[in-house]
Amino acid sequence: MIADPADDARIAAEIAERDAELEQAQEQLRESEELYRHVIELSSLVPWTADREGRVTAVGKRWREWTGAPLQRALGTDWVDFVHPEDLEPLLQAWTRAVWTGRRFEREWRMRGADGSYRWCYARAAKRGDPSAGDRVWYGTLEDIQERHEAEDAYRRAQTELAHVSRLSAMGAMATAIAHDLNQPLTAIAQYVRGCKRMLGGVEGAGKPDLAEGLEEADRNTVRASEIVRRVREFVTRGTIETRRENLPALIEEACRFAMNDPSAAGVDCRVRPDGDCFVFADRIQIRQVLVNLIRNAIAAMEQSPKRSIVIRTEPGPPGYCEVSVSDTGPGIPPEAAPRIFDPLYTTRADGMGVGLSICRMIVEAHGGTIWIDAKAGPGATIRFTLPVAPVDGQAPAAGE
Ligand code: ADP
Repeated sequence: MIADPADDARIAAEIAERDAELEQAQEQLRESEELYRHVIELSSLVPWTADREGRVTAVGKRWREWTGAPLQRALGTDWVDFVHPEDLEPLLQAWTRAVWTGRRFEREWRMRGADGSYRWCYARAAKRGDPSAGDRVWYGTLEDIQERHEAEDAYRRAQTELAHVSRLSAMGAMATAIAHDLNQPLTAIAQYVRGCKRMLGGVEGAGKPDLAEGLEEADRNTVRASEIVRRVREFVTRGTIETRRENLPALIEEACRFAMNDPSAAGVDCRVRPDGDCFVFADRIQIRQVLVNLIRNAIAAMEQSPKRSIVIRTEPGPPGYCEVSVSDTGPGIPPEAAPRIFDPLYTTRADGMGVGLSICRMIVEAHGGTIWIDAKAGPGATIRFTLPVAPVDGQAPAAGE
């Protein structure tokens, strides 16, 4: 068969065209690789890969700058030598789980740097390759997030300081009100004691019942005055508030046990109804104090009620806050008392002191929250307050979990 020169030319042209296309595709690939490398270099990310067993097979050059160690030290499972001892076990568990399930991996931990100090870093990875792909099944990145962590710490410290300042100024206002109102029982004490002295100076045997009554009144007022001072001092001398991430339902349960462990609570049914887990930034002792005050008020209010039950609920509040409500089956708060119940020394109870709710308000506001009466709830009383939510620290759950 004789080759047709026209066919040869056509085939040659086709080959040349394919070559050109191939070259163009390779050029595009080079460009996109170049771009990818450039982007990675510009960002603070360190790329890495792992095989299907989860052994690291390659890591970006910046890892060497971070750790001061040769890249080989990142390979296989050797990288664990650079993980903070406290973070190692949960990190390995999370990575093993991801490798086992094939789900996305995300985790924060502290990595030892070239100078021996630890820095927070954030790793994420996803399974991309097919399991037969050998040493590149997992593709991931590592990011230095130390500055973000420091900024978050600084923000938390600033919040605590701010809360401390607002608490101090609230205490100043309260101290002024207390100083003013303490005058009342103290003046009464002085008058009764003076009266007693006059009587003692009188005829022997005369006026004894009046004397006893006067001393009784003096005694009662002294106890009342000193109790007010004691309660306030207890709060003031507790020092600055120290907020930590606290499990709110657990804190409420604890406060409930505390408050119900009192003879006056006999026959009262107290239930906690949390709406799932809610973590808040709170000073445990002080928020427990708030809850104990609210529960004790509810118990006192229900003294004459046929049904004596308390329900404490948690639910999502405004964005960034968790809301707690304490409801009782007592007579409720009369509308004329409502605007004043958080004022220092306001009380409608014969044996009340009127410091409980004002301290509650001070503590809640020092935490950045608010406290109020829920006028719509009823027929008993419902007091609500908010606390700032503490986001889950450090770790994002793996996708699909
Ligand atoms: P105290 O209990 O010593 O009176 P508080 O500051 O704790 O002081 O409360 C102030 C007032 O608020 C109480 O005297 C009462 O009138 C009202 N109050 C508080 N809690 C309740 C409640 N659960 N039901 C009805 N009234 C309440």
